Amino acid sequence: MIGLMNDNKPLLRAYSIASPNCEEHLEFYSIKVPDGPLTSRLQNIQAGDHILIRPKPVGTLVFDALLPGKRLFLMSTGTGIAPFASVIRDPEVYEKFDQIYLLHTCREVEELRYGIDLVQSVHDNEFLRVLANGKLHHLPAATREDYKNTGRIDAWIKDGRLAKLADGDLTPEIDRVMICGSMAMLETLKEVCKTLGLDEGSNSMPGQFVIEKAFAE
Ligand SMILES: Cc1cc2nc3c(=O)[nH]c(=O)nc-3n(C[C@H](O)[C@H](O)[C@H](O)COP(=O)(O)OP(=O)(O)OC[C@H]3O[C@@H](n4cnc5c(N)ncnc54)[C@H](O)[C@@H]3O)c2cc1C
Repeated sequence: MIGLMNDNKPLLRAYSIASPNCEEHLEFYSIKVPDGPLTSRLQNIQAGDHILIRPKPVGTLVFDALLPGKRLFLMSTGTGIAPFASVIRDPEVYEKFDQIYLLHTCREVEELRYGIDLVQSVHDNEFLRVLANGKLHHLPAATREDYKNTGRIDAWIKDGRLAKLADGDLTPEIDRVMICGSMAMLETLKEVCKTLGLDEGSNSMPGQFVIEKAFAE
């Protein structure tokens, strides 16, 4: 939870930590809701300003909730890419998985910029580029504008586009999935995963996929 003081009271919202856990600083990636109570103000903060951060992070997008696997699919829409900005910059992910596919779908092409710059930063990083080389695959797509990739993630799975790009259908034996997006996106992809025979994991009972909502509607 991060936020600002508002009329002497804390105004806090849930956020995903976008920086990897080996970093000294915390990074967040935020929407700007024009009349949003928090983000209408948060977007104007300057270097040196103070924000509030609750001390205890919680969340379900953690490796401990996943069984060991070979391919990791990170499926996101909009700001749902934020937790995966942490995952793809965490050296551990390249030890745990042979292939990592970052799927990021947005309505408009401009919204894909953060993910494109992020993946570029991994390939530009002296240390990470060696680990990520040939393993990290970025699949950005737009749903409301022309782009090299279009359409929703569930459609990519159902019509075989993902299998073609990732060299094989999703299977419970080798594949692990992390999903972050709107409630509607989570519901849809949860059903798709279950249909494919994947079980939702938790810390106490690791499984083949985990979900986290990027915002409460
Ligand atoms: C578990 C969790 C993790 C989250 N992680 C992030 C994150 O990493 N980055 C981030 O920007 N937001 C994230 N959010 C959303 C965030 O908590 C706030 O909703 C957002 O900061 C807007 O706050 P607000 O007070 O300005 O507007 P709010 O009153 O909170 O939201 C106003 C409306 O804007 C829409 N909205 C809010 N957030 C988003 C969003 N991220 N994408 C699209 N539409 C949205 C919704 O329709 C909402 O009803 C997360 C939410 C949850 C529950």
